[in-house]
Amino acid sequence: MKAIVIHPGQKNSIEMRDVPAPEMAPEQIAVKTIRVGLCGTDAEIDAGLYGQAPEGCEYLILGHENFGVVEDVGVKARDAGFKAGDFVVSTVRRPCGQCYFCNHGENDMCTSGKYTERGIKGRHGYMAEHYVEVPEYMNNIPAALKGIGVLLEPMSIVEKGIDESYLVQQRFTWLPKTALVVGAGPVGLLAAAVLVQRGLRTVVVGREPATDLRAQLVPQLGGEYLSVANIPIPSLPKQLGPLDLVVECTGNPGVVFEAMQTLAPTALLCLLSVTGGDKQQPEPTAQINEDLVLGNNVVLGSVNANPRHYKMGIEDFKAIEAKRPGVLAKLITNHLPWEQYKTWFTQRGEGIKTALEIAK
Ligand code: BGC
Repeated sequence: MKAIVIHPGQKNSIEMRDVPAPEMAPEQIAVKTIRVGLCGTDAEIDAGLYGQAPEGCEYLILGHENFGVVEDVGVKARDAGFKAGDFVVSTVRRPCGQCYFCNHGENDMCTSGKYTERGIKGRHGYMAEHYVEVPEYMNNIPAALKGIGVLLEPMSIVEKGIDESYLVQQRFTWLPKTALVVGAGPVGLLAAAVLVQRGLRTVVVGREPATDLRAQLVPQLGGEYLSVANIPIPSLPKQLGPLDLVVECTGNPGVVFEAMQTLAPTALLCLLSVTGGDKQQPEPTAQINEDLVLGNNVVLGSVNANPRHYKMGIEDFKAIEAKRPGVLAKLITNHLPWEQYKTWFTQRGEGIKTALEIAK
């Protein structure tokens, strides 16, 4: 079968090639991949900054934001609730088999660092015509959501970050009113949609001008957009009032430290971007620390997602679709035939989310 692979650690090594088709074991389900979303992590892997091939293999099949259709169900997976024709999204991370959390169904909280991730770290991903998986890592997607199913994996990241933010803030009587989302990419826009659902006034900031496609989608999601092309991020509270929950999704480590300087007393900053590379820059560390301590603030890092966050994502998709029909589909601005994958990796270009179309 055809697959898009990279050679981890090697810059721009991405290629489409023939690889052996996976064989379905009796406890597995066989899936035909329909489309795969592209994200900054894929770009970082292709840049040689991140990623790892499976042990004993010289390449990694890329792709973790997946959407497919069940082709066949193994004899030992028949009671799991999947049948041929069902739309599915599979999770990304697999347990290390060593730490307490991985052994108790919380591999998103792995402490050994020896977890694997499909399409990212030590395990082949979904940019292939077919894949096999055990039902435990699969989610059934209602047919009504099939157009946006490929957004579920990034949505699960957002759901986890926001879920954990609310859980941590149970440390006292939290009365959040205003949320700030830093970054208007797909993760930022999905975060805005979820925060609006939670009843918060939600402001998204980005470098894009107000005329940009991303900016214009924000009010359609129920939020407000402000361009920070010419505004220092730490000055935002002066303009917007106290910020109770700040979600950082830019992938720019410098912005992370600027976001720390926007927090109202007791506010929480949730960090969602994985930043490869070794960028260094000076920061006003004494001031940042003093403000965080005197403000009883929390800085929370969050990665990957638990199965419950996929379920929350599906529920929020239904609720958002009911309230604002069609708005989420507008995030997928480019449907690229998968043979043309290079266009995205070399030019990125305009638009919000690009999906590689693998099959109908
Ligand atoms: C993926 C996560 C993954 C993380 C770290 C993100 O791009 O969406 O599933 O855990 O990268 O590798």
